[in-house]
Amino acid sequence: MEEKCVVGRFAPTPSGRMHLGNVFAALIAWLSVRSRNGEMVLRMEDLDTQRTSSDFAAVLRSDLQWLGLDWDRETAPQSERSGVYNRYFEKMMDLGLLYPCYCTRSQLHSVNAPHLSDGTYVYPGTCRNLENPPAGRKPSWRVMVPDKVWSFTDRVQGDYALNLATDCGDMVVRRADGVYVYQLAVTVDDGEAGVTEVVRGMDLLSSAPRQMYLQELLGFPHPEYGHVPMLLAPDGRRLSKRDKDLDLGELRKRMTPEQLIGNLAAAAGLIDRFEPVSAAELARHFTWDKLSGDSIFLDAQNLKG
Ligand code: GLU
Repeated sequence: MEEKCVVGRFAPTPSGRMHLGNVFAALIAWLSVRSRNGEMVLRMEDLDTQRTSSDFAAVLRSDLQWLGLDWDRETAPQSERSGVYNRYFEKMMDLGLLYPCYCTRSQLHSVNAPHLSDGTYVYPGTCRNLENPPAGRKPSWRVMVPDKVWSFTDRVQGDYALNLATDCGDMVVRRADGVYVYQLAVTVDDGEAGVTEVVRGMDLLSSAPRQMYLQELLGFPHPEYGHVPMLLAPDGRRLSKRDKDLDLGELRKRMTPEQLIGNLAAAAGLIDRFEPVSAAELARHFTWDKLSGDSIFLDAQNLKG
């Protein structure tokens, strides 16, 4: 039987230049799709209109092109889709699963909410059955989550499971200022674009069960997930946007795309030793089993050229 056509996506946030971690996640997403003749979708995640801009979006497209990571179609940016998100919000409302939440930030961070080791808190359901909502304040809206374990096998991280009731609590889907949250927007956008495979950084692993729950509510199939490891400096520090000299603006000045991709591919074990290589050449030999879930160490100050 022929495998269903793979539809993957790039979903960058146009708030600055791509850094090495973004480049690595985008490379793997692209390799997975192109090595199986799939389709690639690009979407700008610009819900946060204060931090994002169409200028950054244009630079991101140019960076992806420079890297040799192409796409087949671009869907509307999230900032233009609140009408669409509204429809799905109404659907959850009709299902009786939404309620307004008036908790302030300081209430949420108080001792009442159990905190998890990663610094997030579990919403204790304070406003679930509120009898006297405070007057004159706009609420955020939360969706009730079931006491159920969501599990899946990640292409890189293996088996993963989360019970949203004990590990997350009822989730905000729309903020008090009317802006829809990432989890809802991403679920709707991936679902409507027919995305079958979500590949992104490991830092979003715990978002997958949240999105799987919303997919079930809103009538979308679950995609496959691949959460790629974080890139670490030799001393174990995570490479991040703060390393200004490692964003693509700087790297493009001093390397070719093949040199940059060769460094990433060698560090991740996709090739045995460093050599300049294009994304297209890597796609000819890419298989997921080449990528382990271990952190990837990259001496980014001494990239090979
Ligand atoms: N927009 C997110 C980011 O740039 C990625 C979200 C996703 O891939 O689901 O980190």
